[in-house]
Amino acid sequence: MTTQFAKLATHDLHFHYDGSISREVVRAAFSDEIGVKYAKARVERTLINEPVKNPDDFFAIFQQVMKIFNLTDDIQPILEAQLELAARDGLKHLDYRFGCGALNSRFGLSEGSVLDRFQIAVSHANVLGLDVCPTLCFSRHESKDRADHLMNFVLENEEFVRAIDLEGPEGPNTTASFGPIFRKLKDAGLRITIHAGEFSSSESIWQAIDDCGAERIGHGFSAATDSELLRRLAKDQIAVEVCLTSNYLMGLCSDLKSHPFLKFLEAGIPVVLCTDDQAIFQTTLAREYEKADEILRSAKLNSQSILKAISENSRRFAFSEVLV
Ligand SMILES: [Zn+2]
Repeated sequence: MTTQFAKLATHDLHFHYDGSISREVVRAAFSDEIGVKYAKARVERTLINEPVKNPDDFFAIFQQVMKIFNLTDDIQPILEAQLELAARDGLKHLDYRFGCGALNSRFGLSEGSVLDRFQIAVSHANVLGLDVCPTLCFSRHESKDRADHLMNFVLENEEFVRAIDLEGPEGPNTTASFGPIFRKLKDAGLRITIHAGEFSSSESIWQAIDDCGAERIGHGFSAATDSELLRRLAKDQIAVEVCLTSNYLMGLCSDLKSHPFLKFLEAGIPVVLCTDDQAIFQTTLAREYEKADEILRSAKLNSQSILKAISENSRRFAFSEVLV
């Protein structure tokens, strides 16, 4: 069923490497039997089948994900296998999000050596025809000192890191407080997307746009409650990265029909479909298109032409240096 959507599902603009380490990735990464068995057990504890009761459940699962890295003292095989499988699945572009902080604290590797490993994996993916935009995620948990350090790290590695993101629990002003750093990096040429309005009011989305200069918004769910914001997103053509399965499983909506996806389209906002954490939410980009198709059909809309436009949006809004 998803094969009919595979042609459209070529650009995933919201893909976290750590939440997207599927069993297939682990199998491909480790060839010895014991490693595979151990990895399988680990991965099975990191899947979500039913909507979680609250976001903390998700973060508990994420801690399990990080334990997968205990399998090896090197992340290289995982990164290579993940991108290779994405290329083989027909993906042409990934905005590929990672946080150096988490890896650094787990392995005691320097951030530079973590980045080296990403660089090797990305070069390998490029050879396979997959364009990758390395996107470093700042966390709202970050201390001011740590965020300043990461800003300098990004500036020192700007040839490789081409975009930045902000993630983590949204509180009053927690998005705006990153404004000075994000503005400075934007002036230096970095592309900007920000997780906002996932678990908070639309205020966080306003801050992402006005204070941080976001070109795209991750999730943007609560924009649906703010008609002025809907108009602004449409007027300035700020894309919303819609992650249907993620939003449903994280309990943002009781079913997909009540997802504000259609409201965004009606408002004229450029929507892109994305997976977020493919392994944890057990989805693929083609499956996200399939789910969007169901929503559009049940609303008696012309699904074929709308999905085609969404696919074109994904090409247009990708943080890409090459035309893919
Ligand atoms: Zn995300």
